[in-house]
Amino acid sequence: MATAAAPGLPTLRQMLNATLKELAAQLAARKVSSVELAQYFLKRIETLGSQLNAFISVDPERSLAQARAADALIAAGSAQALTGIPVAHKDIFCARGWLTTCGSRMLSNFVSPYDAHVIERYNQAGAVIVGKTNMDEFAMGSSNETSYYGPVRNPWDTAAVPGGSSGGSAAAVAARLAPVATGTDTGGSIRQPAALCGVSGLKPTYGVVSRYGMIAFASSLDQAGPFARTAEDLALMLNVMAGFDARDSTSLERAPEDYSRALTRPLKGLRVGLPAEFFAEGLAPDVARAVEAAIAEFKKLGCETVEVKLPNMRLSVPVYYVLAPAEASSNLSRFDGVRYGHRASEYTDLADMYRKTRAEGFGAEVKRRILIGTYVLSAGYYDAYYLKAQKLRRLIAQDFVEAFKKCDIIMGPTTPTAAFNLGEKAQDPVQMYLSDIYTIAVNLAGLPGMSIPAGFGAGNRPLGLQVIGNYFCEAQMLNVAHQFQQVTDWHLRTPPGFAQ
Ligand code: GLN
Repeated sequence: MATAAAPGLPTLRQMLNATLKELAAQLAARKVSSVELAQYFLKRIETLGSQLNAFISVDPERSLAQARAADALIAAGSAQALTGIPVAHKDIFCARGWLTTCGSRMLSNFVSPYDAHVIERYNQAGAVIVGKTNMDEFAMGSSNETSYYGPVRNPWDTAAVPGGSSGGSAAAVAARLAPVATGTDTGGSIRQPAALCGVSGLKPTYGVVSRYGMIAFASSLDQAGPFARTAEDLALMLNVMAGFDARDSTSLERAPEDYSRALTRPLKGLRVGLPAEFFAEGLAPDVARAVEAAIAEFKKLGCETVEVKLPNMRLSVPVYYVLAPAEASSNLSRFDGVRYGHRASEYTDLADMYRKTRAEGFGAEVKRRILIGTYVLSAGYYDAYYLKAQKLRRLIAQDFVEAFKKCDIIMGPTTPTAAFNLGEKAQDPVQMYLSDIYTIAVNLAGLPGMSIPAGFGAGNRPLGLQVIGNYFCEAQMLNVAHQFQQVTDWHLRTPPGFAQ
């Protein structure tokens, strides 16, 4: 005999794999309330989430208050696409009343007094914050191992890293601890963890999403974007996140777009550019096979392939590791123990207070970046490193301009290998830096890029296909990804331990 289920429970089980549209329809039909949805995911975070360490903060009371407000909006008939939907936010976004740590001891006591633009947008849309996700300290890392709060584990294999720096968000979506999440991408931190966790993630064109209230790492590269299972969901999220904000001087003033508008467009005749540099030495055979199989699917959908060249791409990692630390060293100077965050408890004078505070507050990777950044900006080395890197950045961007004369979209691997093991690269920064070899050039050029699930490799760990669009072509990229997701089911797979 069936036991009586708690109210809404059978429906909630179906919610596990529901798209945002399906969730919104269930909410609108009162099959489930926003409060029940929030409780359901909070419970998953509490029970299943502990193995993954994907969250730094959860605050059920705050989440449920937002959910009750969302239910009132739904009852009043004023729901928007994301009203009542639980969202996990990377702990890099300042959220009023929430502990906002950026994965650092330096901010381990910082409760934000204000909302980032991204948070404000989600809140205005009626979405419910279910928690703040774990991340590499100040978004510096590719494995989530630099977090002061400990590493995140990959839901497909808890011996593996989830990728970084938005590893908590990617793992949370993969394990269905939240239907969707936000992240940021300075050199690959949305696309790389999306690939390694088997979810979809998009980094928009630089300037499309405001950086206001997003703790700065390398300001000329940082860009926020969404994580979800499907391209369709990413489009709905981008509709909420994108748009002009006068408080970010690099925010672009453009007419609002509906990023869902082109999802169903046929791909016949689309020219897919394949950069030779993406398929060269260093690419693991399982990744190469998955990318080739994905490209074969696109050909079946009517796409043509053309070879393109990105001759300066090989310089992108060294260029990035001059520019990003330079900007970081300047951005992180604000953490001085005076204004907010950690302060050493004992010191002799002001200089000693700065030194001790920063020595205690920052982890090794952050210190390494500050040292490199300060060095390349110093009077004697500026021309040799910083200025040279800026010139090369221009050449890298120019390669893409040339490539997009021959093709509509570029495809390749997101990462050189599937997820590696925890600890495997933690002691070797250069090996770690190379895991972003296919993603970094996109940030240097300011282009939009995404990663979508494209199969499984060694050890049954997920693999991603990277899709790079021309400036402001997010709707087209989402169209390409959506069409792929109509003929493949990689994005629908759930890690075995999290399918219930
Ligand atoms: N892994 C790269 C780094 O460590 C990129 C990080 C990011 O995109 N935030 O800097």
